[in-house]
Amino acid sequence: MYSFDYQRPTDRAAATAAMKGDARYLAGGQSLVQAMKLRLSSSERLVDLSGVAELKGIKVDASNVVIGSMTTHAAVAASAEVQRAIPALAELAGGIADQMVRNMGTLGGSIANADPAACYPAALLGLGATVTTNQRSIPAERFFTGLYETALQPGELITAVSFPIPQKAAYVKFKQPASRFALVGVFVSQGAGGVKVAVTGAKSTVFRVKAIEDALTASFTPEAAKAVKVLSTDINGDMHGSAEYRAAMISVMASRAVSAALSR
Ligand SMILES: Cc1cc2nc3c(=O)[nH]c(=O)nc-3n(C[C@H](O)[C@H](O)[C@H](O)COP(=O)(O)OP(=O)(O)OC[C@H]3O[C@@H](n4cnc5c(N)ncnc54)[C@H](O)[C@@H]3O)c2cc1C
Repeated sequence: MYSFDYQRPTDRAAATAAMKGDARYLAGGQSLVQAMKLRLSSSERLVDLSGVAELKGIKVDASNVVIGSMTTHAAVAASAEVQRAIPALAELAGGIADQMVRNMGTLGGSIANADPAACYPAALLGLGATVTTNQRSIPAERFFTGLYETALQPGELITAVSFPIPQKAAYVKFKQPASRFALVGVFVSQGAGGVKVAVTGAKSTVFRVKAIEDALTASFTPEAAKAVKVLSTDINGDMHGSAEYRAAMISVMASRAVSAALSR
């Protein structure tokens, strides 16, 4: 690990003010610290957000679940309000990694990191969420821009994410057994904005599958999702699964997500 300065502000204004030069926010450290240990990443200064209480917490109203960026995966999974409003979101958070990672890892860190196999990006796209920063609101559709890339500008701070409450939703992932990241994960929702199907783990960034959305709009059934053949042309392949395998798994995971959504 290269050496760095460390600051732990206790409010948002001090956190953003500390982001000068080559500084980075530190949330749960579950991705950033590993990358720094391996010298894949370095920063002059880490601005630790763990003391900024206003970034933590969950609010639920009639139409949205709003989660502060420093809310841990464990807190989302355990929240009775999230379990009631969007059970798929609580289950997704509870299925990330292991208990130790869930106790430290945060929503803001996960989406800022934009790992191509991470779970939360599928929920953001699959529910039509909005990311709030200290500067603006960014629709999920415009937030994830590429492999580990987002629309965030240097120093921009994610403060919260607002998830519209759907009528039905579920997330199903085919796990990498060691890490539990998604080899293919599919978030399906049916709500005021229609049917959304978002996939993680299969391309350089999360994406929606219009063909499955169209099939589910016509008939919201597992069979309709499974019948769609997803082309493998631009799907990732690696030692864990070929592009053809992952493409086939998208329809299978979508069909299982529809079954789960219908069974609630
Ligand atoms: C063994 C293991 C297994 C895992 N399995 C899964 C899995 O199954 N599914 C899954 O989705 N994830 C998985 N993860 C990743 C985990 O969810 C991490 O919590 C997440 O990637 C990073 O969150 P963090 O809070 O630790 O962020 P950090 O590592 O602290 O930060 C990550 C990046 O986000 C930036 N950042 C953090 N907060 C903000 C903010 N508020 N505003 C702007 N930028 C910010 C940081 O500067 C940094 O660049 C796994 C991780 C490990 C170690």
